[in-house]
Amino acid sequence: MTDQKEVLILGGGLAGLTAAIHLSKLGIQVSVIEKNSYPKHKVCGEYISNEVLPYFEWLVTGMEKLQPTSINKLEFSTQNGNSITANLPLGGFGISRFALDFHLYNLALSMGCVFIHETVENVIFEEDEFEVSTSIGSRFTSKIVLGAFGKRSNIDVKLNRNFIQEKSHWLAVKSHYKGDFPNDLVGLHNFKGGYCGVSKVENNVINICYITNYQAYKLHKNNEEFQKMVLSENPHLKKIFENCKSIFENPLTIGQISFNKKDAVENHILMIGDTAGLIHPLCGNGMAMAIHSAKIASEAVGNFYESNCLSRASLEEQYLKKWNFHFEKRLKMGRLLASILQKPRISSILIRILVKFPFLMPLIIKKTHGKTIII
Ligand SMILES: Cc1cc2nc3c(=O)[nH]c(=O)nc-3n(C[C@H](O)[C@H](O)[C@H](O)COP(=O)(O)OP(=O)(O)OC[C@H]3O[C@@H](n4cnc5c(N)ncnc54)[C@H](O)[C@@H]3O)c2cc1C
Repeated sequence: MTDQKEVLILGGGLAGLTAAIHLSKLGIQVSVIEKNSYPKHKVCGEYISNEVLPYFEWLVTGMEKLQPTSINKLEFSTQNGNSITANLPLGGFGISRFALDFHLYNLALSMGCVFIHETVENVIFEEDEFEVSTSIGSRFTSKIVLGAFGKRSNIDVKLNRNFIQEKSHWLAVKSHYKGDFPNDLVGLHNFKGGYCGVSKVENNVINICYITNYQAYKLHKNNEEFQKMVLSENPHLKKIFENCKSIFENPLTIGQISFNKKDAVENHILMIGDTAGLIHPLCGNGMAMAIHSAKIASEAVGNFYESNCLSRASLEEQYLKKWNFHFEKRLKMGRLLASILQKPRISSILIRILVKFPFLMPLIIKKTHGKTIII
């Protein structure tokens, strides 16, 4: 058996924090290197599929204190406002990343995880060990490293990952609002060049988060004008913006969002969450995938440290096999759906079909979601 049970996690977002708590529960010493401090708002639709619930009940104490909203309906609309509402097969809950990540961070701290607030600059794997260096010159070594550095990071550039070579044209904008919106609904509204998600989080706050291509966005002076000229062409969004008031001084924006295929193991690092692959936000399943992949990686690492005979190659193979089993098809479906819905005529035909055959809607949702995560 390997004597020192240790894991170094690069990035302390949802995937990194979930793995930190799970590995700590297994008696493994965890260090997390996270460049930002907590709590922090993040660009995210903040709707989490209930598939994570049984696992979260086992892993995370005190979730009820955060008072997430319970969501069980989806309203989908096309650019011209044709819409359909369906029950979400599993349902989900709304919670801000500000509150959720902070809660997980505090839990991880209380379980003995060490947090290093520095920016990782490089990761080298040599003689069966990793050496990680940060921008202020600190160096850390570890037998196991999990990559949880999100959608796009300087570490991807350093590792020369394939997806980073291609420019991505997607950007996303998010803000919190006060106003009228049903508690149990997630709205997914199409506009020219993108989609906008609307749902409630804790404290009666509405999250409005949209993703658009840069070509459409750059034709406008600023976010406000884009919202007025493009998003509000959809009558559902027009009504929402007329009835809601932003409580952020400025919206949060991120760019260069890539949905290209990534490898779940690279340079012997087990990648989790968006670092392994990002599903299109219109599927509302990225957070559940981040949590689930952290669970799979933690279990694989737990087996590795428990077993006398498991090699690093078997650890990587075991993780990759499970990752592909759970997520590969979902990511493909997400990409396919996003490309279909980008075409106004096809998306209009699709919605007419869905209005006529409403039982098809939950089937499509199921294709982009997983089953309840079993502990
Ligand atoms: C517009 C949009 C809307 C979305 N809406 C939803 C939704 O409604 N529901 C849903 O389930 N999913 C949604 N998602 C997806 C979801 O946000 C992600 O899947 C989820 O955040 C993944 O978590 P993560 O831990 O992998 O990454 P993150 O939460 O991004 O964490 C990565 C962490 O790594 C840190 N980091 C990066 N580089 C370094 C470095 N060099 N050194 C140290 N730290 C570093 C970052 O600071 C960050 O804290 C949406 C995504 C987008 C873009």
